[in-house]
Amino acid sequence: MIADITKAQAQAWKKLSNISNSDKIGSAYLFNGPIGCGKEGLSLKFAQLINCKSHSNSICYTCDSCLKFNTLQHEQLNIIVPLPPPKNTGSTELIPKEYFNALDDKASDPFYKISLPKATRILIQSIRDLKKKLYFKHEKDSGRTFVIIFNSELLCSGQGESGNALLKLLEEPPNNTTFILVTDHKKMLFETIISRCQNFDIPSLSNDDIYKWLIEKKTTQNDAEFIVSICRGNIHLARALSLQPVEGIINIIEKLTTTVMSKDSKKWRNFTSHYSRLFNANQLDFNYHMNLIIIWLRGANRLKQGLNSGFEKTNLHNRMISFNDKFPKANIYQVILCIEEVKKQARQNLHMPLILLNMLLDIQKFVYE
Ligand SMILES: [Zn+2]
Repeated sequence: MIADITKAQAQAWKKLSNISNSDKIGSAYLFNGPIGCGKEGLSLKFAQLINCKSHSNSICYTCDSCLKFNTLQHEQLNIIVPLPPPKNTGSTELIPKEYFNALDDKASDPFYKISLPKATRILIQSIRDLKKKLYFKHEKDSGRTFVIIFNSELLCSGQGESGNALLKLLEEPPNNTTFILVTDHKKMLFETIISRCQNFDIPSLSNDDIYKWLIEKKTTQNDAEFIVSICRGNIHLARALSLQPVEGIINIIEKLTTTVMSKDSKKWRNFTSHYSRLFNANQLDFNYHMNLIIIWLRGANRLKQGLNSGFEKTNLHNRMISFNDKFPKANIYQVILCIEEVKKQARQNLHMPLILLNMLLDIQKFVYE
């Protein structure tokens, strides 16, 4: 069962079990790997294994520590995620209520991604609160304390004050404590932080695992094959794609690609205002739509190189053929880079309508040049 991430990422899990057996557990790890490969789920399971009272090679799921980990409610488990900016300074309600539902979803599905509206940074206040908790904890606490930081690259966005605050903690880690920084974007972290952590690389999930996961989620075989062929090992993308009928996906791709390739200023205005709003409301959804454009471009590029587009059974295949005929010199690789760049810039909380407008202009340049 793929919901058991320790099986889907069996090799990585074996290494983690060996660490747990060795009694040489480090004070800081960097879990690094491609987007949607299950890094977060593995980090949580590692913390659970180390605190499991069965003291065997695997998680028992039934001891009192495991019962708390099963719902991610263990007192030794500290999860840090990006949060929206606090409404006013001194606000005690740092964590929005959506977080608690999201945490429940994460507990029941290790591949679930917690993504809160307008959360583009890891707040300095989160690190201050963490510090207080770590240094004032009761001496009688049993087990090992874990601090697991999702999207840890967002420690270093803005002025990087959260990253610097965390660095101080990493330099003098409290006893019996392990930090796990999880990231898809290692390069965005400060070198000083990276150098304090033991690197732990986690590979992509296999197509086979994603296929099995989709079938378990009641996706039809045809749709699952199509999704696997375009999601490139990214389970978040596979999930998003599986939530709507393939026809719906095709329609969105058709609409999006028509807009970004057009020179119609009205379409552009609608695009920049719609997607600026979507970014603020739901970053996962925003990234999903940007990924749909990329998926189409990759298909067109594969076709250009004489490979399968992956869209043969859809009308997008013909659109790719006519795109390649019409723009034989289009630099598809550069267009994809433009869109990837927007996803990165968006995380830095810059002015979205302008970023999107620049993206459209750049796409024009690389398509029509
Ligand atoms: Zn246990």
